[in-house]
Amino acid sequence: MAGMAEIHHPLFRSIKRGLAHRCPNCGKGEIYGRYLKVRPTCKACGHDLARYPADDGPAYLTILLIGHLIVGPALFFPVVWETPPQISLPIILGVLTVVTLLALPRVKGGWIGLMYALQVNDRDHRLHTADASD
Ligand SMILES: [Zn+2]
Repeated sequence: MAGMAEIHHPLFRSIKRGLAHRCPNCGKGEIYGRYLKVRPTCKACGHDLARYPADDGPAYLTILLIGHLIVGPALFFPVVWETPPQISLPIILGVLTVVTLLALPRVKGGWIGLMYALQVNDRDHRLHTADASD
């Protein structure tokens, strides 16, 4: 079964593994040593996990997703408007903080899966920076 669909790093499988905090290469090893701290290599297959640029992208993406999926829809509920801000604001910010902290490792894992699927690594990252003069 070596058809055209049989690519080396399947995109959705790689992202799905990352979302589950798993190594995109084998789907077995944990990618995090602790919260958001990516292991240098996968414990199960030895895949180099440190090579994927995952600094600003995942955080930006998480904020974007939460802004669209939670903040936007929340504004359609009148209770958000009718509650005095000194009560609603701490609750909203608290919920957003918790949701963000829960979402961030998954988004970052999915991001690493995406980098894996696209075979992007640190070397490309340097190539794509704006400063091309050196
Ligand atoms: Zn692995």
